[in-house]
Amino acid sequence: MTIGVLGAGQLGRMLALAGYPLGMDFLFLDHAADAPAGQVAPLLCAEFTDAARLAELGARCEVVTFDWENVPLEALHTLAEHCPIRPPLRALASAQDRASEKRLFERLRIPTTRWRAVSSRTELRHAALRVGLPGVLKTRRMGYDGKGQVVVRSMRALESAWERLGNVPLLYEELVPFDCEVSIIGARGRRGELAVYPLCLNSHAGGILRLTRAPFESARLQRLAGAYLQRVLTHFRYVGVLTIEFFVRSGALIANEIAPRVHNSGHWTIEGADTSQFENHLRAIAGLPLGSTRARGHAAMINLIGRMPRRAALLEHPDLHLHDYGKRPRPGRKLGHCTLLAATPQARDRRARGLLAELAPEIRIP
Ligand code: AMP
Repeated sequence: MTIGVLGAGQLGRMLALAGYPLGMDFLFLDHAADAPAGQVAPLLCAEFTDAARLAELGARCEVVTFDWENVPLEALHTLAEHCPIRPPLRALASAQDRASEKRLFERLRIPTTRWRAVSSRTELRHAALRVGLPGVLKTRRMGYDGKGQVVVRSMRALESAWERLGNVPLLYEELVPFDCEVSIIGARGRRGELAVYPLCLNSHAGGILRLTRAPFESARLQRLAGAYLQRVLTHFRYVGVLTIEFFVRSGALIANEIAPRVHNSGHWTIEGADTSQFENHLRAIAGLPLGSTRARGHAAMINLIGRMPRRAALLEHPDLHLHDYGKRPRPGRKLGHCTLLAATPQARDRRARGLLAELAPEIRIP
């Protein structure tokens, strides 16, 4: 079976690496000739809007999926005439626009931030008055890793925030003074069966995920997040892996965003769970039974950002699993990640603390 993948980033690369043992083949489409997945699988080098290459992808694959949620929808509608696309495009459309994502949360009674859509200076003032300060002004589309966001702390700061972002549709929301951030990741199969992973505890710096620890041991939040995830998956009659990110405040979950795909906060599942998120995504879209999501101990995943540390120095940690995405270094770019596993949360945190001091001193585990 050949799986087509739109986008050949590190997520696509890890999908392929998870799929080969299952006897799957892959064909990627991406505009970058040196994209990470192209180093491990065949790549059609073309724009996502190239109708001829999309038709070729559809003709050569049994099913097409994506590793990036900002693939232009029009292109996918054309491709859908040639070949099934999973997850469903309705879910992708929601995730591409922060305003429709918020409406989705509200419709499914999943608590989210107070927010207003903003398309003029006047609307921005009104939004700040209604939602309150401090707040965050975000682009509705194409934002990721904290890009396209400005924190606003005073009415006077609205003008400069507008100057920075104001030429595209925006959304203003409250700045949540969260206690921590978590994500829930799960797969839904073609017969509606679910496989939900343990909650992940995520630490960001500058809007970029730096550290994930899992399982986050709160049976109550696990149940609540699992119920919210199930609502979203069922709503879309979803097939594949989906992620919801939450702020945790005073024991409550506040949904931030969804990703209709495998997620950076789930990389620990490669070594830390019975079946990785990548394998379960492939199993789901291929109509195969889903695998166990049980955690094998306590995992810490650290992103390697901007500069790749010396491989030999990292591998001196005997229990460390290194993933190098084969990308050229650039400030702020995710180049790889490493995961370590321990028998207890305390042992995991102790080991992670040492590694973080070397790799990401701005992240502190209390
Ligand atoms: P996003 O691209 O929306 O996931 O934002 C990236 C990160 O910025 C989040 O994981 C948070 O750490 C931070 N952030 C975004 N929106 C808010 C908010 N409304 N309140 C507090 N922190 C936020």
